[in-house]
Amino acid sequence: MKYDYLIVGSGLFGATFAHLANKQGKKCLVIEKRSHPGGNIYCEEIEGINVHKYGAHIFHTSDKEVWNFVNSIVPFNRYTNCPMAQAPSGKLYNLPFNMNTFYEMWGVKTPEEAHKKLEDQRKDALDKMKSEGISEPRNLEEQALTLIGRDIYEQLIKGYTEKQWGRPCNQLPAFIIRRLPVRLTFDNNYFNDSYQGIPIGGYNKLIDGLLNGIEVKLDTDFFDDRKHWESVADKIVFTGKIDQFCDYRFGKLEYRNVRFETEVLETPNWQGNAVVNYTSAEVPYTRIIEHKHFEMFGDEVYKNPKTVISKEYSSEWDETKEPFYPINDERNQSIYQKYKELADKEKNVIFGGRLAEYKYYDMAPIIQKVKRLFK
Ligand code: FAD
Ligand code: UDP
Repeated sequence: MKYDYLIVGSGLFGATFAHLANKQGKKCLVIEKRSHPGGNIYCEEIEGINVHKYGAHIFHTSDKEVWNFVNSIVPFNRYTNCPMAQAPSGKLYNLPFNMNTFYEMWGVKTPEEAHKKLEDQRKDALDKMKSEGISEPRNLEEQALTLIGRDIYEQLIKGYTEKQWGRPCNQLPAFIIRRLPVRLTFDNNYFNDSYQGIPIGGYNKLIDGLLNGIEVKLDTDFFDDRKHWESVADKIVFTGKIDQFCDYRFGKLEYRNVRFETEVLETPNWQGNAVVNYTSAEVPYTRIIEHKHFEMFGDEVYKNPKTVISKEYSSEWDETKEPFYPINDERNQSIYQKYKELADKEKNVIFGGRLAEYKYYDMAPIIQKVKRLFK
């Protein structure tokens, strides 16, 4: 065998694995079906601005080891994600749900007033669950109504979520909405983590740093010559779709795709923020990203007279599109479990990442997971 590891996919999982294996003196070959490395964190430079080609990516973690690791590859900046949301009424609200949001929604000025209002808002849903003898919310709608109440659910959650996932909120898993903090402080930081930021110079610096010194073959799909690729290394690290690896024998898993409409605008500062969500079901896109705000702060924004924005349209995945988000509803999870049982029997294959584990992974947990494999 020529290689110790054949790594299928050069996304964050594959690139981190290759980096750590290479450090241990293992010989790795990475194959990647796209024409660039990096998977969904890849950026494209337009008008001197790093454009997040597959959707906005903000690195965040409370794991100091992971933070130090990524910063040893490329230093990160101080970007702090504070998205805004435009509601169906046209009004702008701060996210995540915090005292600013509650003030904007109900005029409440103190945590005590907000707490009272939230109790009122949540009461109906909690009573309903109690009367039905249910202790845990069974779906996203129940979770949102019991967490934050009806006004915010209707203004800021329902429309956005149903656009994003293409399914009614009462058919989606509750955990999706538990990603968002709810706070009785005036704190617009979207994450509770100790560390967050964007690599200085963009995510490609992170990927290129991880893959430095490693052989990478682009435009190469594992499935175009599976027999050959299975013969080149002792072990395979597979980060593609697990259902495809198993010849779809239990049926196809579903994914969500996002289509991006990117425009260059002749203005230095178009929306004043990196992320503005549109929560109305009537607006066809879910959010607009203005990429320069990830890397330029304060007056720096005005040094470039142009800006680049991307509108994000969420859609169902098909073979012609990239699979972005796994849809972890009951049907898909039960299919995935069957594939996992088969995968567990493959002694020479490591399955990892969003597609191979069919998991709604953020970037930092991907790195944690790979690092654990090397411990
Ligand atoms: P991927 O990036 O999907 O990489 C898999 C790679 O394998 C791809 O390059 C693919 O082309 C390649 N591949 C697949 N099949 C084959 C094959 N048969 N042959 C060869 N190559 C193959 N995380 C955060 O922490 N913060 C965020 O703000 C954030 N925002 C996100 C926004 C969007 C729109 C999306 C979709 C994800 C976001 N994430 C975010 C998650 C982040 O993208 C993932 O955690 C991370 O990219 C997963 O890395 P991966 O290697 O598992 O998968
Ligand atoms: N969400 C919402 N309104 C918003 C932002 C998010 O209802 O304005 C919900 C939606 O269901 C989404 C979930 O919260 O899928 C998680 O949001 P997050 O921003 O973490 O999703 P990402 O796109 O980063 O995976």
